[in-house]
Amino acid sequence: MIEVAAALSGILQHWTDLFIILALLIFNAIVGFWQEHQAANAVFDRVQEVMTQKSKPKTLQLKPYLYRGLFRCGECGCFFTTETQKGHNYLRCTKRVSACTQKYVREEAIATQVDRAIERVTLEAALADQMVREA
Ligand SMILES: [Zn+2]
Repeated sequence: MIEVAAALSGILQHWTDLFIILALLIFNAIVGFWQEHQAANAVFDRVQEVMTQKSKPKTLQLKPYLYRGLFRCGECGCFFTTETQKGHNYLRCTKRVSACTQKYVREEAIATQVDRAIERVTLEAALADQMVREA
């Protein structure tokens, strides 16, 4: 509609009106272009934000069990899993591959066995010091 007004002003040779109308048209076009550019940037930024969030691997909040992922079942070879029941941590076979007769065991029992195994291969401090001096 404003274009019709510009055309009529030109036909009627109202140059001041034509100049003002053309200035308004140009200003309106610049503002429209700038707003579209801003909207496109906002959409682009939001899409990047969503894509970044979706590409992040989900971090599972695993409980910090002492022996997580360390042992396999002696009977079936499956990994042991750890869980807490009534305030105690238990390890048990996942039994994913085949039927397995192994039952759960308390973490403290495993810790005792691990301590004994480490003690068998640990040098006494005095002997270790002597070996270091002689080396
Ligand atoms: Zn098993």
